[in-house]
Amino acid sequence: MTQSPPYNLENAEELARELRDKGIRDKAVLAAIARIPRDAFVDAALADMAYLDRPLPIESGQTISQPYTVARQTELLQLEPGDKVLEIGTGSGYQAAVLCEMGVEVHSIERYRELYQTAKETLSRLGYFPKLYHGDGYEGLPEEAPFDKILITAAPEVVPPKLKEQLRVGGRMVLPLGGRNRQQMTVVERVSETRYRTSTYGDYIFVPMKKGTE
Ligand code: SAH
Repeated sequence: MTQSPPYNLENAEELARELRDKGIRDKAVLAAIARIPRDAFVDAALADMAYLDRPLPIESGQTISQPYTVARQTELLQLEPGDKVLEIGTGSGYQAAVLCEMGVEVHSIERYRELYQTAKETLSRLGYFPKLYHGDGYEGLPEEAPFDKILITAAPEVVPPKLKEQLRVGGRMVLPLGGRNRQQMTVVERVSETRYRTSTYGDYIFVPMKKGTE
């Protein structure tokens, strides 16, 4: 994917090196981070903090995830070029940009109309054109299913049943799973029509996945 100049990507390259030093191994993920101007996804007042490895506030009381978390979730998806990917929680659109850079087909759902709109504008300005939807991620996108990979960037208390159904046999879902205060990074693999295998990858804190739209 190409971006219009004059974005200065030195800071993004530095961030990618920091994430490598913190243990992110997937070179394609690091290369994606190094190509994306994260400051474009936050309010101008926060731009000078955009390349710190920390979450930042965005509209509607939500957050853009910490870069380490974005990189870790993307790495855990084990993307293959051409995969059809569903993201739940577009938020700022930054994670969607990372997925676009990975050469996959991106569908992303956001429950807040305001965020959906802003993300659409930001992404198209940068030359990214994922398919964006204003809707409730608990419903998924039955008309586009099945997906090779599903990435949830807000925390549900249980694995959303409709998203399990919309995962291709052989596909993977990555999500933070658990209650309000703390979640476990979880990978759910669909091993057959009826069987799923679950593994966990440490504790994280995400905003809750909420029902309905606003
Ligand atoms: N991936 C985002 C992270 C945003 S935080 C980024 O890169 O910036 C998680 C997002 O999930 C929030 O924007 C929140 O509004 C959204 N969300 C929460 N519940 C949702 C649901 N049921 N459907 C769709 N989006 C949801």
